[in-house]
Amino acid sequence: MFFIAGTKGETTTVKTGKFYCPECNKKTTYHHNQVHEKVTVFFIPVANLRLLGEFIECQSCDNTYKLEILDYDPKKEQLMVEALYIIGLKKVMTMMMLADGEIEDSEKTMMKDIYKHMSDYELSDDDIKKEIESCKDIPMDLEEYLNKLFPQLNESGRETIIKLAYWISIADGQYDKSEEKLLVKLAKHFQISNAHLKGIMSEVNETVSGNEV
Ligand SMILES: [Zn+2]
Repeated sequence: MFFIAGTKGETTTVKTGKFYCPECNKKTTYHHNQVHEKVTVFFIPVANLRLLGEFIECQSCDNTYKLEILDYDPKKEQLMVEALYIIGLKKVMTMMMLADGEIEDSEKTMMKDIYKHMSDYELSDDDIKKEIESCKDIPMDLEEYLNKLFPQLNESGRETIIKLAYWISIADGQYDKSEEKLLVKLAKHFQISNAHLKGIMSEVNETVSGNEV
């Protein structure tokens, strides 16, 4: 008498629940599946040998994902993008103010207005002071913020940042070389062409002169 023994992979569902499927773009049912290598005797699985892998399977579209997908929450993600956007905005505005070496009260007032408008939060003089100090301490962590922002910002978000940066830089009544250099650098980082940048600037110029009339 002898056994025909072997192994085979078998998928079992160990848990089910609801999750947000990026493919379906809505909440739907998932199966948490595990694939085990099983010992077979006469081709019948009799025992688990080892876990080969596990995955999440959407029951609507059959797409499979890594387990981390269960932590994916588009609402939370959106809030984080918004927070980064506001932080980036504050940083960009401060850097523009620092670009010409001096910070005018008109620039500070403008920054407060813009910030309030974008975030519903009032910046105090102390907040601005802290931001200025952190910009002076770490002169180029703007790029780091932009790199975090860039993948998530859509075109209009990037345009808005450029627009506000330019707005801040002309708040003191002049637009000098150092400010221009920084703005061009920003635009380049955001993959905004020179022509597009000129368009954004003339739009701001029109708004500003329109307000003065
Ligand atoms: Zn799905």
